[in-house]
Amino acid sequence: RAKNDGRGIYRFFEAEMDARMQTRRNLELDLRRAFKASEFELHYQPLISLESDEVTGFEALLRWHHPLRGNVSPAEFIPVAEEIGLIIPLGEWVINQACMDATRWPSHTKVAVNLSPAQFRSENLVNSVFGALARSRIAPHRLELEITEHVLLQHNESTLHTLHALRDMGVRIAMDDFGTGYSSLSYLRSFPFDKIKIDRSFINDLSNQDEADVIVRAVASLSQNLGMMATAEGVETETQRDQVKAAGYTEMQGFLVSPARPIDEINARFFADACIGKSRL
Ligand code: C2E
Ligand code: MG
Ligand code: MG
Ligand code: MG
Repeated sequence: RAKNDGRGIYRFFEAEMDARMQTRRNLELDLRRAFKASEFELHYQPLISLESDEVTGFEALLRWHHPLRGNVSPAEFIPVAEEIGLIIPLGEWVINQACMDATRWPSHTKVAVNLSPAQFRSENLVNSVFGALARSRIAPHRLELEITEHVLLQHNESTLHTLHALRDMGVRIAMDDFGTGYSSLSYLRSFPFDKIKIDRSFINDLSNQDEADVIVRAVASLSQNLGMMATAEGVETETQRDQVKAAGYTEMQGFLVSPARPIDEINARFFADACIGKSRL
């Protein structure tokens, strides 16, 4: 009887595993299909100067419009795209599209693009970025590449070499989700980032945790002393905005101003005047 129970449980787990692997396999196939079918789109979230209240740029955030499932979150599909290598062509498409979209904005407006660790393992990243800049003809300093601590986890020579090669082209490099990794501080020593983006979990905890407040302020002074800009992500309330401004952040991003939205909506809201399209004519 005990034996039977054991086997039953085993079969149950086995079936569960099969189902999970099947779901995963389907997602992989679906992603490859979606890339060919152009189901991906970039949405843009404004970055706001805390000094002037003006829009300084936009972060490109990938969206997947699935014909049956609706919008699928990048948190679900980016890790899979990384594992199956699709992030290489997909990431290249993102860089190109973001640079082309930026040509529709005033010439001081930046565009931020997220990069995956896998893109640093491919040989093509520097060439892709160079190509996107050449095709769009945007000034290199308008392109900001966001990397997370995961990119530096391996901390090998080729990663640093790639970062320096990108920087030598004039592109800006930002450290995203700062404070969530294993040894955040040591990564700041390995490369002179242009900007630190503190993870939004710290901003989220501002009102209900004294420690978060101390950390948020410490990161601002750290970045000031290292000569880096500091961006606060995930600002949802006026109070949080006031707090990060007082702490010395240069820039903010969050639902308080806007979530990521399609480019036409962004352009209508932020550049409704004659500015738009000038750079394309
Ligand atoms: P991330 O780069 O840290 O992007 C910020 C995330 O925080 C976005 O989630 C954004 O929608 C969300 N966010 C911004 N402001 C607020 C706020 O006030 N409240 C809340 N609750 N959330 C806010 P999203 O778009 O779901 O993207 C998740 C992650 O997926 C990104 O985190 C990034 O790591 C990754 N990702 C997105 N697009 C790309 C891409 O093109 N390439 C790569 N490699 N990764 C991407
Ligand atoms: Mg980012
Ligand atoms: Mg982030
Ligand atoms: Mg994140």
